[in-house]
Amino acid sequence: MSKQYDAIIIGAGVIGAAIAFEMAKKGYQTVNVDKLASAGYGSTSGSCAIIRLHYSTPDGVAMAREGYYYWLNWAEHLEVEDELGLVKYINTGCLVTKTELNKYLKNVMASLDNLGVAYEELDIDAIKKKFPFLDTHKYFPVKLPDAPDFGKPTAAAVDGAIFVPESGYISDPQLSAHNLQRAAEAKGAEFMFNAEVVEIRKKDGRVAGITLKGGTRIDAPIVVNVAGPHSYIINRMAGVEEGMNIKTRALRQEVCHIPAPDGIDYQKDGTLISDGDIGCYSRPETGNHILVGSEDPECDKREWVDPDNYNQNFTEQWLAQAMREAQRIEGLGVPNQRQGVVDLYDVSDDWIPIYDKSDLPGFYMAIGTSGNQYKNASVVGLMMAELIEKVETGHDHDKDPVQFYMKYTGRTFNVGFYSRLREINPDSSFSVIG
Ligand SMILES: Cc1cc2nc3c(=O)[nH]c(=O)nc-3n(C[C@H](O)[C@H](O)[C@H](O)COP(=O)(O)OP(=O)(O)OC[C@H]3O[C@@H](n4cnc5c(N)ncnc54)[C@H](O)[C@@H]3O)c2cc1C
Repeated sequence: MSKQYDAIIIGAGVIGAAIAFEMAKKGYQTVNVDKLASAGYGSTSGSCAIIRLHYSTPDGVAMAREGYYYWLNWAEHLEVEDELGLVKYINTGCLVTKTELNKYLKNVMASLDNLGVAYEELDIDAIKKKFPFLDTHKYFPVKLPDAPDFGKPTAAAVDGAIFVPESGYISDPQLSAHNLQRAAEAKGAEFMFNAEVVEIRKKDGRVAGITLKGGTRIDAPIVVNVAGPHSYIINRMAGVEEGMNIKTRALRQEVCHIPAPDGIDYQKDGTLISDGDIGCYSRPETGNHILVGSEDPECDKREWVDPDNYNQNFTEQWLAQAMREAQRIEGLGVPNQRQGVVDLYDVSDDWIPIYDKSDLPGFYMAIGTSGNQYKNASVVGLMMAELIEKVETGHDHDKDPVQFYMKYTGRTFNVGFYSRLREINPDSSFSVIG
């Protein structure tokens, strides 16, 4: 016996749950199917949950700007309580250093101006005044710790920075997916856990449903791939990869949690830093820790992996990130005990996501989130629900891309920007910066 739904959503991470919420609001009877035990246990749980507005392209900034307002209005957006509590947005502001690699933030500032996002340009004195604990020497280009000149400044000072006051992070990314699950359930959505999809079934030239490990079949005329770093495996099951110009793969990442230097209350005085000069991003973390992720500098090897079989231990990459951050934060020690997160990004060929239909009627995808789409989850949820609704009622999205109205920023967004058929976007940073 197979069960029938209007739509099956593969994955119950923050984006899969957000899509369920918006589709349920439109009246679709949805079921999210996830092989893990609870919502947000996939790459969402490893997310640094940074909410920042600076992206390399105006479209990237527009999405982040819209997404930001959803986090500010989280309780109203969800319309329900969660017995585990609701996540909190913590505003810190974000310092972004200028480097030749990010073209001294020329495009980023133009994109911020275009969206009316406020920022200050800071010279070295202004950086020091705002954040006295920062070492403002220039270290660019980024090096491996065993390079002979590692840790030696390459100039007296960084090439300047901007500070974007409206930026911060979410207290608990996994809980945010659970919040969205509860909101979706309140609108009639269902969730199945410990349920692994092993087959995408087709009938008469369109998607017909899924089969789970163990043989259970679930039928639906719509299937949405929101499988995070497993997205390419699901696309191969559906046989849609060949029809895509942009593809996805899983990239291994390490994030360090390091105690702040003595005498600094980093949760009060620290900030978000996007620091291309040392190849790291960082933010305050609970327990007066500093969380340090990688901005994927040229000198580091990119580890494309099988998402079901990769090294989950810290490696020399952890040490490299910690030592790079110690260049910037005066007095930061590199502990012997390595703490933090090892997880995966689902990376597209140009590090810009794919939010699209496929060549298989009824099969959609919200994938390739490239380490930077947590913040956009709720906008993506609504955008995907509208895309699906329009395509299912006959709209040819490939020829005439759906236009999506963003309710907070009052802008109309061309969803074709995220097409699987696009050429590689040359304006991308080709890194987690997006
Ligand atoms: C280390 C790290 C740091 C990040 N930092 C940030 C940040 O600071 N800011 C930001 O905006 N973004 C960040 N991101 C990106 C962001 O977290 C992701 O884009 C987002 O969480 C993806 O959500 P998702 O729902 O698409 O995928 P996931 O959360 O990965 O969910 C996919 C789900 O699909 C399920 N699944 C896969 N295959 C199957 C199958 N065959 N059957 C059933 N279920 C299946 C998995 O179990 C999983 O739960 C970061 C990501 C990582 C890894």
